[in-house]
Amino acid sequence: MKPTRRDVLALGGGAVASVFFTPIPWKLLDDASIWTQNWSWIPQPVKGPVEWKESACALCPASCGLRVKMAGGYAVGLSGKDGALCALGYGAHQMNWHPQRLTVVRHNGQPSTWAAAEAAFQKACAEGPVAIVDGRPGRGASQVYRQFAEKTPGALYAVIRTPEEEALRPVAAIAGVPVERLGYDLENTKLVLSLSAPLLEGWGGPQRVQRLWPAMQIIQAEAELSRTGTCAARRVQIKPGSEAMLAMALAHALLDEKLATGPRPAMSLAEAAALAGVELDEVKGLARTLAAQRPSVVISARPEPAVAALNVLLGAVGAEGGIVARNGAPAPAKSMDELPGTLRAALLDSTVPWDRRPAGAQEVFRFAAWRGGDEQGWMLPAPGFLEEATDNPATGARAEALLKPPAGVKTTVAFLGGELPAAQPVESAIVPLTCKLAAWPSAAPNGQDGRTAAWTAAWTPAVLAPLATKLHQESKLMPAGGGRRQA
Ligand code: SF4
Repeated sequence: MKPTRRDVLALGGGAVASVFFTPIPWKLLDDASIWTQNWSWIPQPVKGPVEWKESACALCPASCGLRVKMAGGYAVGLSGKDGALCALGYGAHQMNWHPQRLTVVRHNGQPSTWAAAEAAFQKACAEGPVAIVDGRPGRGASQVYRQFAEKTPGALYAVIRTPEEEALRPVAAIAGVPVERLGYDLENTKLVLSLSAPLLEGWGGPQRVQRLWPAMQIIQAEAELSRTGTCAARRVQIKPGSEAMLAMALAHALLDEKLATGPRPAMSLAEAAALAGVELDEVKGLARTLAAQRPSVVISARPEPAVAALNVLLGAVGAEGGIVARNGAPAPAKSMDELPGTLRAALLDSTVPWDRRPAGAQEVFRFAAWRGGDEQGWMLPAPGFLEEATDNPATGARAEALLKPPAGVKTTVAFLGGELPAAQPVESAIVPLTCKLAAWPSAAPNGQDGRTAAWTAAWTPAVLAPLATKLHQESKLMPAGGGRRQA
């Protein structure tokens, strides 16, 4: 019988279909994968002894302890030393390989040299005034910056305050102590009333908050449901931007029930509760809980004089488990926002986020490990993650560099001609703090008697390294820069 065209097609189709039931295509795929992995131009992971080292994350002021898995001298994995890290921390060792890594000096977006940058900075210092801005005060590097500012005529040293320091500014004003000395004694707190403070989203450092979370009772009062609100023991729904109103209503309720003594807010209990959107009975119940569960403390996401006053009425200021003063804190310094608007130039340390620069600085010298934002002025390549010694300002402990920085990179300390001083352990102890409320604060920081826009508009994002800040904000995991929480 003569084969037909139909037979040939059927045989060919059957042969092709049956190939997939044999090992041939899978073996070819496997061989092709192996072959392409071994092309000479594909980077090969270094083989070498695997060891674990300890360090600290320098991406934000929380300074989380790290366990770093090293292979052949490279960091290949991270885990938290005393608890979990934030999402950014877990992948931070990969940022050194980011294509936006800065390894050459740039001036107004064009490649330049260290010599040109140094000459420009010396000229700016001679013409003055210049400011040195420190994103993480209290480190060995901070001492060098201060000394440089002291010996350079007209130079100023300024810092970026942490969200915790920002929130405590009104307490510092009432107590008459530098805000650097104040802190929340959460380790001894029984109850925290959080007024929209993002406790679980990065406020105060994830390791500390997670460690304390099982023992702390949290009541979260907020307008938008947050992760903290989801996990809190109780959640109170309030109107957007009404944190000060709720604080005033609680102050009235404490005074009415004789659970505290002190001055009253001018606004009545009924009006404050209505503006906060909370029923009177709920306000009274909250006030009783705060008083019964002492030591309790009220935390707000931003500087709120009414919240500071409520803490004074509660007896939380200067008391164990409340807001305490410590010795050993970094020396008081001007905030970057208080610098004069007539600066000739500003030098920004690599811990200053991309979106922060002093108002009015004519020329900016910004140290950064990564590009990714406004490149006006000088961009000076700084060591990246784990590439320089990291000081923990709270303890004075220093983690030495684990990785070698690329060529062309310089620290701010070296640029200023200084040397990192030896690490000095910080002896931190609680010192007595007396605080009396003479009168109820008259206005909220926004000058609207506490009636503010949504709190997200005023939330100060954690101070992170430049690329980290960009990732942090663009990830939309947290509200920042006025943005709203995304699903
Ligand atoms: S919270 Fe800050 S210090 Fe801790 S892992 Fe994240 S970025 Fe690093």
